[in-house]
Amino acid sequence: MEILGLTLWKLRELLKKKEISCYEVVTSLIEKIYEEDRKLHSYLYVNEKAVEEAKKIDEKIVKGEIEGSLLGIPISVKDNICTKNMPTTCGSKILENFYSPYDATVIERIKREGAIIIGKTNMDEFAFGSSTENSAFGPTKNPFDNSRVPGGSSGGSASAVSANLCFASLGSDTGGSIRQPASFCGVVGFKPTYGRVSRYGLVAFASSLDQIGPITKDVRDCCILLKVISGKDRKDSTSLEKEVCDYESYIRERIDGVKVGIPKEYFVGGIDREVKEKVEDVIKIVEEIGGEVVDISLPHTEYGIATYYIISTAEASANLARFDGIKYGYRSKDYSSIIDLYMNTRGEGFGDEVKRRIILGTYVLSSGYYEAYYLKAQKVRTLIKEDFLKAFRNVDVILTPTTPELPFKLGEKVDDPLKMYLSDIFTVNVNLAGLPAVSIPVGFSSTKLPIGIQIIGPHFCEEKIIEVASSIENYLRWRGKV
Ligand code: GLN
Repeated sequence: MEILGLTLWKLRELLKKKEISCYEVVTSLIEKIYEEDRKLHSYLYVNEKAVEEAKKIDEKIVKGEIEGSLLGIPISVKDNICTKNMPTTCGSKILENFYSPYDATVIERIKREGAIIIGKTNMDEFAFGSSTENSAFGPTKNPFDNSRVPGGSSGGSASAVSANLCFASLGSDTGGSIRQPASFCGVVGFKPTYGRVSRYGLVAFASSLDQIGPITKDVRDCCILLKVISGKDRKDSTSLEKEVCDYESYIRERIDGVKVGIPKEYFVGGIDREVKEKVEDVIKIVEEIGGEVVDISLPHTEYGIATYYIISTAEASANLARFDGIKYGYRSKDYSSIIDLYMNTRGEGFGDEVKRRIILGTYVLSSGYYEAYYLKAQKVRTLIKEDFLKAFRNVDVILTPTTPELPFKLGEKVDDPLKMYLSDIFTVNVNLAGLPAVSIPVGFSSTKLPIGIQIIGPHFCEEKIIEVASSIENYLRWRGKV
């Protein structure tokens, strides 16, 4: 049996039945990572102590102390989520030797359920990017074609899940960084409603947009992990006191009577022909499994990218002010005054994309430009959100492509930031509106590259997304299409 190819829920069954030991799983996983990750580079750090943890978990299982919904499951974590006793680099030289003194709330929660953290995954520096090429430690490759990008910024997580180098992963999504790499790597990626999951211990990019979420092999795995990480946390005042569902109980085979909105603005020029055709096939499947397809309009869609890049860079420029060579990580050796120390540390420690965003963000916040850019963007953000709220009066969920393109070649966009920014055209508006959304794999291009679709739901209605996503997945799975 190929243990490492199993889903999280299947592995959990086998561990419980003692058909395999956690030790066996973890040792073969680490061996596979050392072998295969030399070419993929999805990990920045591998936790060898996981072997000892696995032995302890086996002892528990033998004694019948089977507690925790993730008991013995190896999970990887994007390197901007703080983990005690392991580095948290954010893919940046400025945090190269940074060890967090505490665990993020999501880490506490998955550990409490018995998960084993198998390692930290590669990412675009500070989560700025759509290809994982902005990592200071070198890019990650797409497991389906090593000459192509895995997407970003959670490219390491998506690539690791896709290549069976972990059983699930936690990523972060500010403008698409869970969903776009999930789509590029043929896995499931869920961005929860803003406020659903605690951000405590997530190194902030844009605080009003960031959310942590699961990247998994299938929808059921996603339900399991989402349930564990969701819920109010008193350490994050933006997390909300809302009931957390048992998402697994919303897994369906049919969606009779469910209204699925198709926004016309997401099918305009510039979208890859094969991606478009695949999404059209899925729309037919939706009808076959009982859904009602409804044409809708989200008229402010086209302003999303501009709005997102003003608000996200503004917030990032403020959040990244803390990396000054005093409090954390890297400090330049070359300084004679405090100003020199700040300037040289930041100059040497940050990569080009980080500097670009700090400059852009500082500019849109500066006096004289604040009203013209930042304030205007906030107003447009409200209009974008209202578009969605209006649409959800008539439909239960919205279905769109996740990205307009197939995974692109390494190096293809890295010198053209505007082109790179357009990769997120279908995902950023969801963050601006604070909505939940998933990307699920729906098949392959003629060149054997994965294609994903996005399902967006109303605020705090993750379970509606699960109903539709699981029904589509079930349909495709039985026909051998994913
Ligand atoms: N690609 C987008 C950006 O570069 C989104 C990143 C993210 O979601 N972290 O800003």
